[in-house]
Amino acid sequence: KAAKARFVERNENSLRLHEEAVKSLPGGNTRSLLHNAPFPIFMNSGKGHLVLSEDGHTYTDFVGELTAGLYGHSQPAIQAALVDTIHNIGLNLGSTTRLEEQHARLLCERFHFERVRFTNSGTEANLHAIQGARRFTGKRRVVVFTGAYHGACFMFPEDRPAENCVDLGEWIIAEYNDVEDAKRKIQGSDDVAAVLVEGMQGAGPCIVATHEFLHQVQESARKVGAVFILDEVMTSRLAPGGLQELEGLKPDVTTMGKYLGGGITFGAFGGREDVMRVYDPRDAKALAHSGTFNNNTLGMAAGYTGLSQVYTPDVNQEFNKMGDEFREKLQKLSPGTKMTITGRGTILGIHFLKDGRKEIASFRERKNDEELKELFWFEMMENGFWVHRRGIIPLILGTPVEELNRFVKCVKEFLERHES
Ligand code: PLP
Repeated sequence: KAAKARFVERNENSLRLHEEAVKSLPGGNTRSLLHNAPFPIFMNSGKGHLVLSEDGHTYTDFVGELTAGLYGHSQPAIQAALVDTIHNIGLNLGSTTRLEEQHARLLCERFHFERVRFTNSGTEANLHAIQGARRFTGKRRVVVFTGAYHGACFMFPEDRPAENCVDLGEWIIAEYNDVEDAKRKIQGSDDVAAVLVEGMQGAGPCIVATHEFLHQVQESARKVGAVFILDEVMTSRLAPGGLQELEGLKPDVTTMGKYLGGGITFGAFGGREDVMRVYDPRDAKALAHSGTFNNNTLGMAAGYTGLSQVYTPDVNQEFNKMGDEFREKLQKLSPGTKMTITGRGTILGIHFLKDGRKEIASFRERKNDEELKELFWFEMMENGFWVHRRGIIPLILGTPVEELNRFVKCVKEFLERHES
């Protein structure tokens, strides 16, 4: 209660802005995930790894725009690419452009795609990947997994789709990390067009799939002739060739988004030439795939510049090593407490599990002590860390190691105060 009272006191401008916002936006918000009780914080601006709130507080940004903010708020090469595009190219040309071709070529090289297409978001990438798989196989059903988040209208929080889930007809929902259930569900129908899975469930946050699970899912999909779609919208940053490279997977189609647009709205799906051919507009019978901003010049330029000049394979590996070390330091604090740290590389999940379990294989095992989790959020903010209430921490390039160490110290003190 005291923490909440301090929160209200420290953030009066945000409260006022929220009261204004509810007059034009339901709940004052246009991204549900960013709403927090008692009211959300309004940010004013960002620089590098920092964000400044309307209340005048500066935070180290641990929200990292849910992984899309990998480059931070003012990466010089990306800023230069955006300015150059605005001045010398224009915003959208109503045509195919060289920018589009060059980004596509780089993505094909980096992620071993034979062909790739762009969308406005990861949600759309998944939508088109699924529809493409249906056309390719001539089948209808799609196997997904409990706890999956594949986009705004593809959520499977329980063993059924969320109410706002697009009804593509026939979802089959299997248990995440349960090899036998996955095999049974994939092989139990002769109408499976696609199997769609994340290598780590971001919404968990950060429930990591086992190597065996992912390979068995891939193998089962192959066995029944379904298209194996790996959702790497979050995980593509975890290695130069994405999580599929770490795990030795060969998806038929991969969906992507987030940081690969350099911070601008972005999505992509790519993979096998024969599957992607269902979208080849030279074929009169091809599926149409449109979207005014699919190839918007800013996203193409910023995405290409980021991946080719900033997030090079060496930087990627160093950065993820730093993330692993950070996670290990936090994990070391956790024995004997409710805190559990999950994740891989630079994407971490912080949980405060009621039963104190230290491993989480599925969404169902994730029963948080919500009060403690909320207190953690309030107190980390007071310490100058902008952390997502869900507990996902995607790191931003250029965040000083000292700042990561200061976070570890603050977490240690938090645990000493509240868990001893
Ligand atoms: N798939 C995964 C695994 C995601 O984490 C997200 C977004 O968080 C999406 C898809 C949807 O991407 P977007 O928000 O760009 O629509």
